[in-house]
Amino acid sequence: MPLTLRQIRINCDKARARMEQARAEHWAFGAFNLDDQATLKSVVQAAAAQKAPVLVEVSQGEVDDIGLDNVRDLVDNLKFQYGVEMYINLDHSPSVQAAIAGIEAGFEFIHIDVSQANHDATDEEIITATKAVVEYAQLTGALVESEPHYFGGSSNVHTEKIDYQEIRKTFSTPEHMKAFVEATGIDTYAAAIGNLHGKYPVPKKLDLELLQQLRAAAACNISLHGGSGTPGHYFRDAVKIGVTKVNINSDMRYVYRTTLEKSMADNPGEYSIAKLINHEVVPAVQAVVESKIVDFNSAGKARP
Ligand SMILES: [Zn+2]
Repeated sequence: MPLTLRQIRINCDKARARMEQARAEHWAFGAFNLDDQATLKSVVQAAAAQKAPVLVEVSQGEVDDIGLDNVRDLVDNLKFQYGVEMYINLDHSPSVQAAIAGIEAGFEFIHIDVSQANHDATDEEIITATKAVVEYAQLTGALVESEPHYFGGSSNVHTEKIDYQEIRKTFSTPEHMKAFVEATGIDTYAAAIGNLHGKYPVPKKLDLELLQQLRAAAACNISLHGGSGTPGHYFRDAVKIGVTKVNINSDMRYVYRTTLEKSMADNPGEYSIAKLINHEVVPAVQAVVESKIVDFNSAGKARP
């Protein structure tokens, strides 16, 4: 059932207040990608088991596949059923129009990322689009997230090594962050400090000193994308410094697929793949989500 504008505003107000609280109390929301109903169930069960507040997120691919209103309804039904604190993030929304659709569907978090769709987008195009979304989000109070340039990697398992010298060129700087936040009025800045979309053959390294400088440069929330494949100690330090949202996708996808492959190989006579997914994949993905929740220090923090 669609939410009323009043209910959407209540949800967004709460999400905003909870992000502030997270920063004050040094914990972060895990923003877990929702590929299908099974991954959603994994996240919800992890949130319930750890009594943790969570975000689930969809990007354009899942929006096209599942539909914004269906995502809202699925999340609301499970939120009610499990009594968990859960919000929805529209991740890497490629255009102002797509972001507006997310705001109107009642998503509490909107990430506008025109440079993902167009890597050559100019600074001015990015700022103009981001400002338009910030302005429209006043309708519901949704929190708007963005970053000033294209963010590397893709949510998949990569076989190539990470070239840190190349990646370092795309790191956030305190000056750029401050200018971008002031120019756009965003609520959340997606920092680039060594985080990279996807899972790589070597663990990721985060520049925590740079993160300290970013934290001091602007008053907004800070998020980390590309959290998969990052050793847990980096997250524990990052939330102490003040990161309040960490996106996780590839680590879940990796376990989903490898568990399903093993399960199918172990059960050659089983043709209900949904049964294998429910019995074996969901608990395996749930375990990944729970371990991230512990790293993000959000266990026990839910206020449903
Ligand atoms: Zn991302």
